[in-house]
Amino acid sequence: MITVRQVREVKLSAWQNTYYPELWRGMFITSKHFFQNFGRFIGRAVGLKVKRPLVTFQYPEERRPIAPRWRGRHRLMLRPDGAPRCVACMMCETACPDKCIYITAGEALDGRIEKYPVAFEIDLLRCCFCGLCVEACPEDAIRMDSGYIDLGGYSRAEFYLDRDYLLKDSALTTHSQFRGELDGVVVTRVDLLAQAKHH
Ligand code: SF4
Ligand code: SF4
Repeated sequence: MITVRQVREVKLSAWQNTYYPELWRGMFITSKHFFQNFGRFIGRAVGLKVKRPLVTFQYPEERRPIAPRWRGRHRLMLRPDGAPRCVACMMCETACPDKCIYITAGEALDGRIEKYPVAFEIDLLRCCFCGLCVEACPEDAIRMDSGYIDLGGYSRAEFYLDRDYLLKDSALTTHSQFRGELDGVVVTRVDLLAQAKHH
């Protein structure tokens, strides 16, 4: 059985109907938090010990620690001999729900493996960062623990990652190691692209 409860309409006074009381109340609360945080920021900047820490990070100079299981931008791994671990089995390309991995396989002539990736491209603008490619890989050749979580760029082409770009972070093993290398340095994807072009 459905019961209907009648809700009494709240009658506002003429003063309340101007909405000024609530407007000023909202402004007061916002200003209070602004000045409290501003005071803490100034205190910290001049070396005072502030009781409550700031709730914001001064990005990009100050970066929030990321959890080890965070899925960031992909990287491809290398074998100890420097060859890509990927054997171009296409499992990741098949598993990808967004169909944003494009692999071209070539025949490996050294006899140890059958195929290797002649081209391995990921269109990050289509990727939903689900991690299924990582799960599907039988060789642990693709990972999403590169530590790159702030992905920005000025053109679509910057988000189309090729094999060499994906392989260049293979030596990094954990987020913390990656973050350690960044200590005190602000490195953006645009910087890295510029560096890669010069090498
Ligand atoms: S994270 Fe998901 S969407 Fe992105 S490339 Fe991997 S499988 Fe595809
Ligand atoms: S990255 Fe892994 S799953 Fe994808 S093609 Fe290479 S070996 Fe296969």
